[in-house]
Amino acid sequence: MANIVAIVGRPNVGKSTLFNRLTESRKAIVDDFSGVTRDRHYETAEWIGKKFTVIDTGGFVHGSDDIFEEAIRDQVHIAIEEASVIVFMVDVTTGITDLDDEIADLLRRSSKPVYVVANKVDHAKLHHDSAEFYAFGLGEIYNISSATGSGTGELLDAVVSHFPEQEEEEENALPKITIVGRPNVGKSSLTNALLGVDRNIVTDIAGTTRDSIRIHYNQFGNEFLLIDTAGLRRKSKVNEDIEFYSVMRTIKALEDSDVVILMLDANDGIEAQDINIFHLAEKNKKGIMIVVNKWDTIEKDHKTAKEFEAKIREKIAPFSDVPIIFTSVTEKQRIFKVVETAMEVYKNKTKKISTSKLNDVMLQIIENYPPPSTKGKYIKIKYATQLPGRSPMFAFFCNLPQYIKDPYKRFVENKLRDNFDFKGVPIQIFFRQK
Ligand code: GDP
Ligand code: GDP
Repeated sequence: MANIVAIVGRPNVGKSTLFNRLTESRKAIVDDFSGVTRDRHYETAEWIGKKFTVIDTGGFVHGSDDIFEEAIRDQVHIAIEEASVIVFMVDVTTGITDLDDEIADLLRRSSKPVYVVANKVDHAKLHHDSAEFYAFGLGEIYNISSATGSGTGELLDAVVSHFPEQEEEEENALPKITIVGRPNVGKSSLTNALLGVDRNIVTDIAGTTRDSIRIHYNQFGNEFLLIDTAGLRRKSKVNEDIEFYSVMRTIKALEDSDVVILMLDANDGIEAQDINIFHLAEKNKKGIMIVVNKWDTIEKDHKTAKEFEAKIREKIAPFSDVPIIFTSVTEKQRIFKVVETAMEVYKNKTKKISTSKLNDVMLQIIENYPPPSTKGKYIKIKYATQLPGRSPMFAFFCNLPQYIKDPYKRFVENKLRDNFDFKGVPIQIFFRQK
């Protein structure tokens, strides 16, 4: 079950300021991935050990004034349907506006937990002013200042109380694979091609409250569960064309899977939204592969695929060690290659390297290229071991872990990748005191 917190409210109340604050610890990392931060409206966050995804719904509202309010209403409807918890933000300095009232009306009719947050309570004096928001009939008011962060702790305590203590580990479960991507890239076509039927599952799932359905695939020696959200057709077809809606669906599917197949349309290449999804998968430590579909529609020569691939790798850097496959679902080209590759990525993700083998290989490399000495001190890495976990994690024990810099960490990661094949899998490396 995905934990999704949607921040809703009219423009300028401070939604994106709160969003940035909640996802702050991650922001520094994300900023390294040049160019994508600005259109980032969803991001992982963590509070008292519980992970969740925060969505700034305001980031999805585009357009002129006349369609503006309608867009906000759509956003709120979708948030009610898809989010696990809703944060309804209002501005204490302006008080209640008509649009606030309208949003409150929609939220009152929902069964999802709603937290009314009075923002811009920068001084104790303003605490009393927020009392007027009780008029919404949505319960307690949380006074916060997104600018300073005051009050956000209490809000988060309340919000994460809705999330389970820990994801239950599914021992010996089948690999879970999800196809994600923008509308019309060919996700359902691929699902149908794999299953060999043009399924219409609308009727099967009427009234279901599940986020997605799992289709058991077992052919040619490959067995896995295909997580299908594209197949979950909605009551209102309109929703599906809304970017915000597809992002919500994607996040849910992604959190529930082991390997994510990010599908692109060869005519569009990789766009900002795809890159955001890619990084979200990376940060959630999911296996990842990229499928460039509709390859039949591209005019090409012997260099086209190579150039296309290079461009994608440049845009997803620094984590670019992922498989990229060019398909035509309609012409049935390389469809089974997709399945095989997804299974390889899964194998890489669950791979365990023995401590002796790891040390044989890595200690030799480290001896030849030791970490640079810092402040006249020599760093001695003594041994390494893979830590238990659902994705590859390695600990390198050394005398002065605090002096190991990022470039050396990256060097070690690259050597691990060169020697042990972790294609498609994010790996974590820790340097620890010994
Ligand atoms: P959004 O449109 O709801 O995402 O609102 P923004 O996050 O863009 O904020 C709108 C304006 O309110 C910006 O100028 C922010 O700097 C300001 N703002 C946001 N939070 C606070 C706050 O806690 N106190 C004060 N005084 N200003 C804030
Ligand atoms: P989804 O929204 O991502 O599930 O996309 P669909 O599977 O519904 O496909 C959207 C459209 O693209 C449909 O008209 C498909 O027939 C078409 N399509 C899917 N894959 C290919 C392909 O490899 N080549 C071409 N030319 N069209 C494709």
